[in-house]
Amino acid sequence: MQQSTAVIRSRRVVLPDGERPADVLIRDGRIEQIAAHGSLLAGDAQLAELIDLGNTALLPGLVDTHVHVNEPGRTEWEGFATATRAAAAGGVTTIIDMPLNSIPPTTTVAGLEIKRKIAEGQAWVDLGFWGGAVPGNTGDLEGLHRAGVFGFKSFLAPSGVDEFPHVEQADLEAALTEQARIGALAIIHAEDPAVLDAAPHTPGVHYRDFLASRPDDAEAAAVARLLDTARRTGARVHILHVSSAAVLPLLAQARADGVQVTAETCPHYLTLAAEEVPDGDTAFKCCPPIRDESNRDLLWAALAAGEFIGIVSDHSPSTPDVKLLKEYGGNGDFLAAWGGIASLQLGLPAIWTEARRRGHALSDVVRWMSEGPASLVGLTGTKGAIAVGCDADLVAFDPDAEFAVDPHGLHHRNPVTPYAGKTLTGSVTTTWLRGRVVDVHAAPFGRQILSNR
Ligand code: ZN
Repeated sequence: MQQSTAVIRSRRVVLPDGERPADVLIRDGRIEQIAAHGSLLAGDAQLAELIDLGNTALLPGLVDTHVHVNEPGRTEWEGFATATRAAAAGGVTTIIDMPLNSIPPTTTVAGLEIKRKIAEGQAWVDLGFWGGAVPGNTGDLEGLHRAGVFGFKSFLAPSGVDEFPHVEQADLEAALTEQARIGALAIIHAEDPAVLDAAPHTPGVHYRDFLASRPDDAEAAAVARLLDTARRTGARVHILHVSSAAVLPLLAQARADGVQVTAETCPHYLTLAAEEVPDGDTAFKCCPPIRDESNRDLLWAALAAGEFIGIVSDHSPSTPDVKLLKEYGGNGDFLAAWGGIASLQLGLPAIWTEARRRGHALSDVVRWMSEGPASLVGLTGTKGAIAVGCDADLVAFDPDAEFAVDPHGLHHRNPVTPYAGKTLTGSVTTTWLRGRVVDVHAAPFGRQILSNR
């Protein structure tokens, strides 16, 4: 493949130390130089191309470490081609695939190899894989770690799919002990099954009833137990998709005690609220659930204070029928519907819309959605920043463009999203992967990436 040299010029380049006008020189897919705006000339014989974005912002591509692709096994829910096209269209240039809801799950090296083979030639963005730590596979973790997975996901409560069972305390101890030994990162779905079991379970179309079935205490109890186990085993742990602000003091205390813990949250917890969920609109169902507005404000305060390493999508799509969506003939029962939010393509505009309203800058969004997630998976210096030596994974972003969300206009496989009909601010106009423009209608050139930890 011919790699050209190019300069991308913008009055709003979001660099690690802030936003300013600059020229970014790209050579052989990497960022070679960052120079003063207007200083690198197209007339220079060695420069093949000058792309002047004017006032359109230039951001590093987003790194989304929490995506459920579902292929093979549930490819009708989502697949590598559709998920990575949605990613590219949304300014996400690296995704790390979760070890479930594909069949097989990524709990053995053989399972990983199956996924890697199927993903070949179907990735419009760069793609890595998480492994899974489930009861009985402690002996598989080292092999998966050596094969390049970025860490291991475990559930403390039932995952929703039979082939990926949750860990009881003894399994968790074994998994974290082994991960401490091999130096892997444990990523955890933290809801406590006993608290969930004791909560009221009222079926029906009322979101409030569903919310009562997944109380804040379920998250807080699970996080407390996990942190205690991490403290004893010395494992490095990451709390996935924090929805309840009740876990924040636990995280702060654990950090003060020297536990190696990070946490993430998601666009839907930061931009949606329980108060606005219409009866029967199960596109809003996810676990843990979207909570109320006052909780959302606390999550934003924690984000601003640096308590979350990043914001990632937890893109977990399904077909409309298992969502029990009314417009597809379902009964809109929140308790029985599949729990998962599908909106990989909308994370950046959703967060930017709300972040701007709350007085945050584009550089904050980049810290939360590019730099932070890249650092979580050890990709700092390669991904997630406009910095010399990094891959030229870049996004042209018009921060003032407004658009109404049409579920049928999105690239993910099934036209389901809780943002349907909402007006969002901020539009991705071009995505570059290693210096090349990504065209979702042309052949893909995403690569599979491995953890080098
Ligand atoms: Zn998930």
